[in-house]
Amino acid sequence: MTATPDKEFVNEIIANGGETVNMCFQCGTCTASCPSGRQTSFRTRQLVRMAQLGMKDQVLSSEELWYCTTCYTCTERCPRKVAIVDILIAMRNLAVASGNMFEGHKKTATSLIKSGHTVPINDDVKAQRAALGLAEVPPTVLASDKAKKDFDKILEATGFNKIVGE
Ligand code: SF4
Ligand code: SF4
Repeated sequence: MTATPDKEFVNEIIANGGETVNMCFQCGTCTASCPSGRQTSFRTRQLVRMAQLGMKDQVLSSEELWYCTTCYTCTERCPRKVAIVDILIAMRNLAVASGNMFEGHKKTATSLIKSGHTVPINDDVKAQRAALGLAEVPPTVLASDKAKKDFDKILEATGFNKIVGE
């Protein structure tokens, strides 16, 4: 892993939707407000600073980049109106483009490709639905071959399968 700063990294983030990345003056309000950071090693302010400093390899291979739940608390509280979630999403997109998709997200994306749902249905859910007087399988892509085929066309057109590696 190189320690040489990549001065273009911040411009890549800006070009991918993180226009406000340079507005951050490191007050730490985002980190103090972050519910995910309370439970994990994720420090929002630190990741934004690493982006400003051009620490591309470290940011794009970081697990913490994937710990944001996109709750937007930080964005609401930032005194500099930094669109932090947009910056994190831009960095995640760059991470995926460089082959670094977090395993949990990959699993969710794979489920979406296979079934059309991020959370697959199982026998327990089917039994619960039946007990509630509902059809075992909901009237979504799960119950319609045509809808699933249409959905597959969207995945193909957007290249989503290739991005996920399925
Ligand atoms: S709250 Fe805003 S200005 Fe303060 S550290 Fe976070 S992103 Fe930077
Ligand atoms: S949007 Fe993400 S970074 Fe911001 S407070 Fe919520 S979990 Fe933390």
